[in-house]
Amino acid sequence: MLDQAVEPAATERPIDVSFEFFPPQTPEMEIRLWEAITRLAPLQPRFVSVTYGAGGSTRERTHAIVARLVAETEIEPAAHLTCVSASRGQVDDVVRAYWEVGVRHIVALRGDPQGGVGTTFEPHPQGYKTSTELVRGIRALGDFEVSVSTYPEKHPESASIDNDLDALEAKIDAGATRAITQFFFENDVYFRFLDKARARGITIPIVPGLTAVQNFKQTASFAKKAGASVPSWLADRFEGLDDDPVTRRYIAAAVAAEQVQGLAGAGVDEFHFYTMNRADLVYAICHLLGVRPQPEKVSA
Ligand code: FAD
Repeated sequence: MLDQAVEPAATERPIDVSFEFFPPQTPEMEIRLWEAITRLAPLQPRFVSVTYGAGGSTRERTHAIVARLVAETEIEPAAHLTCVSASRGQVDDVVRAYWEVGVRHIVALRGDPQGGVGTTFEPHPQGYKTSTELVRGIRALGDFEVSVSTYPEKHPESASIDNDLDALEAKIDAGATRAITQFFFENDVYFRFLDKARARGITIPIVPGLTAVQNFKQTASFAKKAGASVPSWLADRFEGLDDDPVTRRYIAAAVAAEQVQGLAGAGVDEFHFYTMNRADLVYAICHLLGVRPQPEKVSA
């Protein structure tokens, strides 16, 4: 099945991973989040990022999680931030508050239109109008590392891949130093996009963002909104398993393993995982990549 399987030799190359979490809505989900972070922390991710709810709806919760990561762990947190429904002054205050608690890495996004995907984005009258403006604004406020999004199958509002690469170049010119992709299931989609980006002289890391399909229907619906295609072979693999979560999990692991090994086998050495606040599958995939728990650092 794993026609591009990575032999152990390939895992000798250092692989960097990062993990994305979302701010939970309930105390039970909050417990699950911290269990997931605790389980994944020994893998020493390059950073973990925490999303910013649509329209800034999780501003306080995102801040609280990121601040706790700084205070209680050795992991570098990256806080997602969008321009939606906020003036520049409000967004700048959020950025300053991150700086004050020790956060030095922001994932800067425009955010979805207030009316939802498919409607027109209306910037706040006094707000940042684009992700490019936001990147520039953050960089002006402090020496932050700024990561941004990119879309190998193009953003739903974008006319073409070239338009997306224009947008990426603008964000880099504004100070972004890493791009994280929307999730995808066909590795060729990523490699074609990477080739186009490199042909334009874009040199920053374009890190594949990967999601494990724990619930096919949910993933397919999310993919539709996000402009990510769902290949028929993927649908076939989950067909008939709607009421069989245990088998779905094994299939999800096999699909994810195949994808990361295909990427690593072709030389990809940095991965961003959309964890959905669950650790087990991501932990297993990291293990396959040769990313293992690191011994505690001993001070001299
Ligand atoms: P942008 O880079 O702003 O692009 C949006 C559109 O504008 C595209 O069509 C693009 O081609 C065009 N464009 C932008 N700038 C230019 C330019 N200078 N020249 C030409 N065209 C331009 N959403 C959240 O609400 N919270 C999150 O925490 C969050 N995290 C995300 C993390 C990742 C890794 C990704 C891939 C997406 C995330 N999103 C998040 C979703 C994102 O907010 C939406 O996809 C949103 O619609 C676009 O914002 P953006 O910054 O990703 O895209």
